[in-house]
Amino acid sequence: MSERLADHTTTRVGGPARAWVTARTEQEAVEAIRVADAAGEPLFVLGGGSNTLMADAGFPGTVVQTAFEGIEVLEDAHRAEGAGEAEGDAVVVRIAAGQPWDAAVAWTVERGLAGVEALSGIPGSAGATPVQNVGAYGADVSQVLVSLRAWDRLVPGGGAVVELTAEELRFGYRDSIIKRSMLESGEPSPRWVVLSIDLRLRRAAEGAEPTSPVRYAQLARALGVEEGAHAALRTVREEVLALRASKGMVWDVADQDSWSTGSYFTNPIVPAAVRASLPEGAPAFAAGTDEQGGELVKLSAAWLIDHAGYGKGFGLPDVEPREDGPDGRGEDGTGLAGGRASLSTKHTLAVTNRGAASTEDILTIAREVRDGVRARFGVDLHHEPMIIGTRL
Ligand SMILES: Cc1cc2nc3c(=O)[nH]c(=O)nc-3n(C[C@H](O)[C@H](O)[C@H](O)COP(=O)(O)OP(=O)(O)OC[C@H]3O[C@@H](n4cnc5c(N)ncnc54)[C@H](O)[C@@H]3O)c2cc1C
Repeated sequence: MSERLADHTTTRVGGPARAWVTARTEQEAVEAIRVADAAGEPLFVLGGGSNTLMADAGFPGTVVQTAFEGIEVLEDAHRAEGAGEAEGDAVVVRIAAGQPWDAAVAWTVERGLAGVEALSGIPGSAGATPVQNVGAYGADVSQVLVSLRAWDRLVPGGGAVVELTAEELRFGYRDSIIKRSMLESGEPSPRWVVLSIDLRLRRAAEGAEPTSPVRYAQLARALGVEEGAHAALRTVREEVLALRASKGMVWDVADQDSWSTGSYFTNPIVPAAVRASLPEGAPAFAAGTDEQGGELVKLSAAWLIDHAGYGKGFGLPDVEPREDGPDGRGEDGTGLAGGRASLSTKHTLAVTNRGAASTEDILTIAREVRDGVRARFGVDLHHEPMIIGTRL
């Protein structure tokens, strides 16, 4: 019997794959991709399954799971140039695509290498981090990624290993050309399958405590420092993990609020004029300009969801009715998705499986929230996870 995606995704939903390959080496992954592509077989590349919602019907093709791990130091300026020189020597590390991301972050912090500590606790594989340019607490992977090696499926002759620089990846907010190659083609797999990523990190000067600047107000408050001030890497990691756990944003089988894809919606980036139509208190942050030079702002999806009446836990059958919005109960009193799925009880941005949800249950909650926010504020929310074989 083939593997079920539900056993390999953090939301614990998704039907069976027709064929399944657990690639323990880069070569095994490339071989499986080549075979599927040559046969015209649908292909899905899976890392940790923490940003994937697969249809309940499953996947009518081959799932290749990247299970090859490893971290190596490629370049160490400090060692090369002799001890005690420059402050903050660059160290380039190469991380295999199947390496669990948070274990890689822990590895860097243990060695006093600064750069990714604010990205502690993000589930999934290292190879998926450039796909949507993962980010949290004022950091994202584009700030440290130098380049990556990938299998380019479109090179004539059946594909080839290529190197892509950060510039070539054209990173944006939760975006890169890898993600766009799927969205634009409608294919379930990207053109480039990441094999390894190279990150440029910083080592503290000899004898100095490794620190990094805190770029996020909530994190700075939790650490008791000013935004922009430096804090020890270990402390940053511990505080980020604690903050994330309090929001159900560290995957933990014992915490059903984390049975999700993390944030279900991205923060909408809209013309600044839209801000004026929103109630006072709606958070909005400068987000550059559009192609015509018009000012853009980034809104808070969590705020919009909450203020459209979808509070924490929305969709649970026993939720108390709210006067200012929908209460999550269907006409039969059982609640949307029968209580099987709901917004996290700790954060309005996560759509969670309460134990027996299907992919459709998750999407039912997400649709209600998306439509409700549009009806209340006229703002479109866009989903963050990759949805395969079905649609929002
Ligand atoms: C509790 C929780 C908290 C989260 N918090 C955050 C957060 O703070 N910030 C954030 O940005 N994200 C967050 N996420 C989302 C998710 O963890 C990240 O997007 C993560 O990088 C996905 O990695 P993965 O290996 O699980 O990807 P998967 O779900 O396995 O795959 C996601 C997509 O990437 C593609 N892909 C996977 N591996 C490769 C590869 N090697 N090459 C090319 N394409 C590939 C897949 O085909 C799929 O389209 C969170 C998720 C959860 C469950």
